Order: sequence, then structure tokens, then C-alpha cells
Amino acid sequence: MRKQQDRDNCPYFDKPMKDCYCAVFNSFTIPLIVRYCFNDYEECPHYKQVVLMSSKQKVPKE
Ligand code: SF4
Repeated sequence: MRKQQDRDNCPYFDKPMKDCYCAVFNSFTIPLIVRYCFNDYEECPHYKQVVLMSSKQKVPKE
């Protein structure tokens, strides 16, 4: 179970990757931005992919 303070903006939100939902704001991405970037970023497919690819490295803090 996640703690309330764990619900935070994604560390990639300020400097999004090219495939991030928040790289483009439109009617398709906005609901996903609210869902993932502002809340459950650990469930975001892009975030999961980065974590998987860099499992031996720390996710950078921007
Ligand atoms: S939640 Fe996903 S789409 Fe949003 S900034 Fe993080 S990695 Fe990118």
C-alpha cells in the first residue's frame, strides 16, 4: 500500500522523455498525465520501461 507522500509528480515531469505523455498536451494525453504524471507515475508504462532498462542504475532526479 502506498503512503500519501509517495503520491507525487513523476521525477521526469519537469524534463520529460520524448515518449512521455507530458511531452505533448492534447485530449489524449491530458487524462494520462493526470493519471500517471501527477499521481501513479510508478504505474506509467514509460516510467516502468525506464526503471526496467536502468534497473542497475538509480533513476535520475531532475
Ligand atoms: S509519469 Fe510517465 S509519462 Fe509522465 S513524466 Fe513520468 S515517465 Fe513520463
